[in-house]
Amino acid sequence: MRRNSKEVKIGNIKIGAENSVAVQSMLSVPSYDVCGSVDQAGKLKNAGCDVLRIAIPDANAVKLIDSIKSKVDIPLVADIHFDHKLALESIEAGIDKIRINPGNIGDDSKIKAIVNACKLHEIPIRIGVNSGSIESRILEKYGEVTPEALAESALYNAKLLEKYDFDNIVLSLKSSSVQKTVKAYKIVAKKCNYPLHLGITEAGTETIGTIKSSIGIGALLLSGIGDTIRVSLTADPIKEVELGINILIALEMRSGIRFISCPTCGRTRIDLINIAKEVENALSNCKKNIKIAIMGCVVNGPGEAKDADIGITGANGMGFIFKKGKIIKKVPERDIVKELIREIDLMS
Ligand code: SF4
Repeated sequence: MRRNSKEVKIGNIKIGAENSVAVQSMLSVPSYDVCGSVDQAGKLKNAGCDVLRIAIPDANAVKLIDSIKSKVDIPLVADIHFDHKLALESIEAGIDKIRINPGNIGDDSKIKAIVNACKLHEIPIRIGVNSGSIESRILEKYGEVTPEALAESALYNAKLLEKYDFDNIVLSLKSSSVQKTVKAYKIVAKKCNYPLHLGITEAGTETIGTIKSSIGIGALLLSGIGDTIRVSLTADPIKEVELGINILIALEMRSGIRFISCPTCGRTRIDLINIAKEVENALSNCKKNIKIAIMGCVVNGPGEAKDADIGITGANGMGFIFKKGKIIKKVPERDIVKELIREIDLMS
């Protein structure tokens, strides 16, 4: 069962409560490159990114907000470290959400100024705790970065905002350890109803980061925890969005193409590995909600994949197209991808 979280609005989307889990990413081009930032924002939006974060390291970067908003319709989050003025300027510039750790902002008057501006503009704040941001007194208490320390830091930072009667809050508690991150989120999930932004931080390159993010984010989502996700990869952020969407599709939390393909074995008589890749590429932009099976042999293929809506199975130089386990067409191997895509195009 999904955790009961508070609904929070980020521009024109909502997260938390019953809303679908939103996929986030972050611009990776240098913040002084306005054209590059606008271009990357457009590409991320087209890839399916629901919410986009941008680093605001200086006053110059605040200009990005208007430049992106005038060209790309996507909710924007300003990532601010330490400087409350940058938060206030970003809010004035029309940002949809602020990511900041109140504990890093300095004296209370600065936190209060941000809270008042966020209240006025109905903008949420994400408190983004990570292994490096835990307050020294909390670290001393636990001796090292522990799930409990991450959780305590997040709730402490939330209190700094609650003090000013502010609860338009999203929390994240990321570490590069899957185990610590999952435990930290589980602790916080029981102690508050703020929506949770999930992610494994500094997860690694595409291969290892995919594994760590899928396990960490997947484990939490399967426990009913999580309202928005950001996969963090040392790679093009488009990959983060694609993986985020694929995690949600695999968990049946978002509609889309679900692939089944067999590992091949001594019975395989067609070039199944390349056929599977071709089908996957051909359908990369397909928004249909269907299950597709790519199977190596007719003996086991249709049976093993009988809950697939459509699929192919190979024989000697031939392929069969089947629907719901029943063969509907026999085609030469060279035409099998083309014929499968044609059949899928006809499906609603
Ligand atoms: Fe082997 Fe056929 Fe199973 Fe593929 S579907 S792994 S070819 S038995």
